Amino acid sequence: MAGSKHSYPPGAHIFREGDAPDAAYVVDQGRVEVYTVHNGQKLILNYLGPGDLLGEMAVIDREPRSASAKATTQCTLTEIREDQISERLQQADSVVRLLVQALLRRYRTGLKAVRDRGIPLPEPDDEQADHGNVIDKFRLEAELMDAIDNEELSVVFQPILDLRSGQIRGFESLTRWQHPRRGPISPAEFITLAEETSLILPVGHYALSKSTQALAKLMRDAPPALTEQLWVSVNVSARQSAVVDFADLVKAELDREGLSTAHFKLEITESLTLDFDRVSSLIDRCRALGIGVALDDFGTGHSNLSRLHCLRFDTVKLDQSFVRQMMDEPRCAELVKGILQMIRAIGAEVVAEGVETIEQARFLKAAGCRYLQGYLIGKPQSADGLPALLKAEPLQV
Ligand code: C2E
Ligand code: CA
Ligand code: CA
Repeated sequence: MAGSKHSYPPGAHIFREGDAPDAAYVVDQGRVEVYTVHNGQKLILNYLGPGDLLGEMAVIDREPRSASAKATTQCTLTEIREDQISERLQQADSVVRLLVQALLRRYRTGLKAVRDRGIPLPEPDDEQADHGNVIDKFRLEAELMDAIDNEELSVVFQPILDLRSGQIRGFESLTRWQHPRRGPISPAEFITLAEETSLILPVGHYALSKSTQALAKLMRDAPPALTEQLWVSVNVSARQSAVVDFADLVKAELDREGLSTAHFKLEITESLTLDFDRVSSLIDRCRALGIGVALDDFGTGHSNLSRLHCLRFDTVKLDQSFVRQMMDEPRCAELVKGILQMIRAIGAEVVAEGVETIEQARFLKAAGCRYLQGYLIGKPQSADGLPALLKAEPLQV
């Protein structure tokens, strides 16, 4: 079985005592027996079934396997890679790390007593229900790794309208996951999950290369007059922003498709600016290379207004929560007007997100907003539909 899923016939060993640990597993189907050998006699330590975690201890403390695991029926296991576990532990609070290590040491001492004296271990507590979420997370993560290889991920593009010309000027790239069994999984779920480990890097790279490919095709297929000032923007995750030469990596991707950096923007969510020095050097490098930068979800994060002027972004994306409330809440409407004025005063443009009604569009236009994004303008769609959007009659707001 390819990727993260492995099957074992009855009697097959998953690992043996003394093996160097390379992975842990979640049991998907079948039964597994965990045992050690004492004075030539087999001593069963545990039986595991669907939903149980297996082999994680040796992976955590990087010690040889202290017991053997064997399939007793036909088994399917999901593999959890060593780095999926170690990265989480590295991020954990140092006290939690210490507690985990202390527990492991205690377990190993207990196990040694079993082996030396042949005492059976006490029955483990059945706390499966409490662990269900964590196990599911590991499983979903393993499936996400396979999804990249199996092309289950795709990228869609949401149009951005320029109110000055009434035409589409940009597209935001958004990643989708169509899971073969679970159906569509929202990026809010899988991107957050991927962010917990470095899995976000291949996912982000996938989005980046699909987006540059789509942009290159669009530049070839649509009349030059419609693409002259076009841009595609891609969301940047926290971990991507920490990659030292991330902006240069983006430039290399654009070069490969023969694209100018002027047609590309990175969307950096406002809460990332908490790590001010890092984000500010990423933005500076983008500017030096000619790549645009949009400050995403503006107004929801932790923007430090006193340092905002130091960040050289060219676009601000007003979060949809403002747009949703501004027609009913006069104070929110005043705030939106103020934000638009403030951002334009520092020479940046605003894209209002989540615009769903013509009333919202008219209000934003009157308040001086230049760009609109939302279901009123268009839902995210596959790259094939983009030339038609560019050619559409100007939209009058
Ligand atoms: P975001 O960057 O704020 O993207 C805008 C989200 O609002 C998208 O949700 C979009 O489909 C949705 N949206 C657009 N117009 C409307 C509207 O009129 N009404 C409503 N109710 N919603 C609207 P989506 O695609 O589910 O993405 C959610 C978030 O996941 C994104 O928020 C972004 O933070 C993240 N994301 C998506 N793709 C990627 C990716 O490739 N990389 C990274 N790092 N993050 C991504
Ligand atoms: Ca975004
Ligand atoms: Ca946003």
